[in-house]
Amino acid sequence: MPTRDFIQLHDLRFVPLISETDIQARVGELGKILTEQYAGKNPLFISILSGAFVFAADLMRAFDSDCEVGFVKLSSYSGTRSSGDVQTVMGLEKNLKDRHIIIVEDIVDTGRTLHFFINHLRAMEPASICTVTFLRKPDAMEFPVEVDHVGFDIDNRFVVGYGLDYDDLGRNLPGLYQLSPESS
Ligand code: 5GP
Repeated sequence: MPTRDFIQLHDLRFVPLISETDIQARVGELGKILTEQYAGKNPLFISILSGAFVFAADLMRAFDSDCEVGFVKLSSYSGTRSSGDVQTVMGLEKNLKDRHIIIVEDIVDTGRTLHFFINHLRAMEPASICTVTFLRKPDAMEFPVEVDHVGFDIDNRFVVGYGLDYDDLGRNLPGLYQLSPESS
């Protein structure tokens, strides 16, 4: 699908940031790296819903060996101000003990989600945990979280497309779009 000059979603306008072609090339590279790292180990890709479902689908198809996939939904509700959001995890049915886990995230913004989820998984005693994110906003990081593989580092600006939404719209766009300077 050709990249459009701009996308209008609800009240906001978005302009192209990363093309479908560049995304697919990078996902292919990440798939190769993971194949070298995990071939023969039957890793379990755990995709964090909803934003990472498109990335996870492409990434696991770029993985050239046996693997499994699972999905989790993290819901947050306001806790005390000092501890930030308290999260609950839904959908983790498998026994993760001694499994090789590849966490697949759409975007690391403050790092809160990944920081919480890694600690949650560690308690289940997997053999290893690897983190892969499609996007990272280095300027927005607030939580100490090590990401093993990053698709693209981007500016601290709101983005949509390739699974990411603005108020439920935009997830189906095959490219990535950034909030237009005129909209902010
Ligand atoms: P974090 O916990 O790292 O602060 O935030 C991660 C979550 O915030 C992501 O999984 C995503 O759902 C949401 N998020 C952060 N930045 C953006 C953005 O630019 N666009 C969209 N659509 N979601 C974002």
